Amino acid sequence: MSKSFDVVVIGGGPGGYIAAIRAAQLGMAVACVDEWKGSDGGPALGGTCTNTGCIPSKALLQSSEFFEHANHHFAEHGIVLDKGATIDVARMIGRKEKVVKQNNDGILFLFKKNKVSFFHGRGSFAGKADGGYQIRVGDEALVGRHVIVATGSSARALPGAPFDEEKILSNDGALAMTAVPKKLGVIGAGVIGLEMGSVWRRLGAEVTLLEALPDFLAAADAQIAREAMKAFNRQGLKIELGVRVDGVKVDGKGVAVAYTDAKGATQKLACDRLIVSIGRLPNTGGLNAEAVGLQLDERGFVAVDDQCRASLPDVWAIGDVVRGPMLAHKAEEEGVAVAERIAGQHGHVNFNTIPWVIYTSPEIAWVGQTEQQLKSAGRAYRAGSFPFAANGRARALGDTTGMVKFLADAATDEILGVHMIGPQVSELISEAVVAMEFRASSEDIARICHAHPSLSEATKEAALAVDKRTLNL
Ligand code: FAD
Ligand code: NAD
Repeated sequence: MSKSFDVVVIGGGPGGYIAAIRAAQLGMAVACVDEWKGSDGGPALGGTCTNTGCIPSKALLQSSEFFEHANHHFAEHGIVLDKGATIDVARMIGRKEKVVKQNNDGILFLFKKNKVSFFHGRGSFAGKADGGYQIRVGDEALVGRHVIVATGSSARALPGAPFDEEKILSNDGALAMTAVPKKLGVIGAGVIGLEMGSVWRRLGAEVTLLEALPDFLAAADAQIAREAMKAFNRQGLKIELGVRVDGVKVDGKGVAVAYTDAKGATQKLACDRLIVSIGRLPNTGGLNAEAVGLQLDERGFVAVDDQCRASLPDVWAIGDVVRGPMLAHKAEEEGVAVAERIAGQHGHVNFNTIPWVIYTSPEIAWVGQTEQQLKSAGRAYRAGSFPFAANGRARALGDTTGMVKFLADAATDEILGVHMIGPQVSELISEAVVAMEFRASSEDIARICHAHPSLSEATKEAALAVDKRTLNL
């Protein structure tokens, strides 16, 4: 006997679980199927984000930042640790696991609260059914009038160097090392490479990142990327750009990476562990998409239109398994919008105002267009920036690296992009997102009262800088 639902969501990551909750709020009968297993074999809802992504990486970034502060910055505040701080890596990893579990259990609680039926196991299409689609989960047969595919993504391996999670690590292994490696290699200086490289460098590893592209952080505003490169180099992160990895060999001692550097010379990097963070691939293998003829695109993502409609009627797909940035908040927004569309409402995702944050120190955050994008589009703009070095709160914090930068239309003054590098910009960027959603001008931000002393005053001053009238510089 099959169980029928208005909506069956396959995948319980930030895209899937949020879609399930929103659909339930709108009065639909909803099931969510997720196969992730915790260390006890039980369900571990929240997908990559909760288990091996956003949440555990931020837990380790916090622990390692405290460690770095204790050893390098406490003294200037007069706090003296005579023997220096030491790190108990096992305890740090244990804390991270607790944080993950709190989030897993929180989602199970939310499912109960919202009456979402949860099925633990792999969900796959078994065929079409009267009034929808058959979804098989182990021995259970479900029928969904609508199906939302939210199966996420997995780390991409280098050809010929599969992840063993001992020496060649994906994000899973990078978040679970029980000792600090002496030498850590990282392939790919993207978001994961920089965040994970920062964690292990702060704890004492010598970290080298090998990046294929000639430009550092090519998606970020070039001025911000240059600032970031300087700051990371000062911290001791070695970043080599424009390299080609020729081979990876594991031996008794560790890992040897053969590569060609930007000048064409053959080089070798010997390390104890190697993190490979060169992007992620969509999880579609377990879906049995062929059973119903669900179309994938040429890169293996579920093919969708701009409303997340897949190639079959009443089948939708969201999050990392479809085009667009692989970000948890993008997955969530798509989940909400799809649930609302199924309910006959007009769900909406504004792809122009999705913020990006890199949780290194300094943090990097941006929304909207970069200066190089505006230039290549031939758009006339005005730029204004303000350094944290001139911000009182940043000085009191003892962290004055970086700046806030505004880009506004030359004629209308509408904000086109805001780019930040510095302390707590992961939080500051929200003001810029709100402003852009309301199509504010830089003058609007410049005229709004910001608390003193606060880092947010740098945002106001950068907006004033667009009109060349900063007050504190
Ligand atoms: P996922 O979170 O991948 O969830 C998909 C779920 O579906 C998984 O539980 C999977 O097991 C399950 N599943 C797959 N196939 C099936 C099947 N057939 N049946 C049942 N279940 C199935 N993004 C941010 O915005 N901020 C960050 O700080 C951030 N940090 C990150 C750090 C790391 C190290 C990594 C790897 C990623 C990070 N991301 C971050 C990206 C973020 O994790 C993803 O964008 C987000 O998890 C995508 O959500 P999703 O719901 O689409 O997929
Ligand atoms: P990424 O796309 O951020 O970076 C991958 C990097 O690897 C790129 O710079 C790319 O040029 C480089 N690369 C690709 N192939 C290479 C090769 N053969 N040799 C050397 N370099 C190579 O991807 P990621 O860091 O793996 O992260 C995956 C996804 O997870 C990202 O899309 C990101 O959005 C998401 N994520 C987000 C956050 C965050 O929001 N703070 C944190 C971590 C991950």
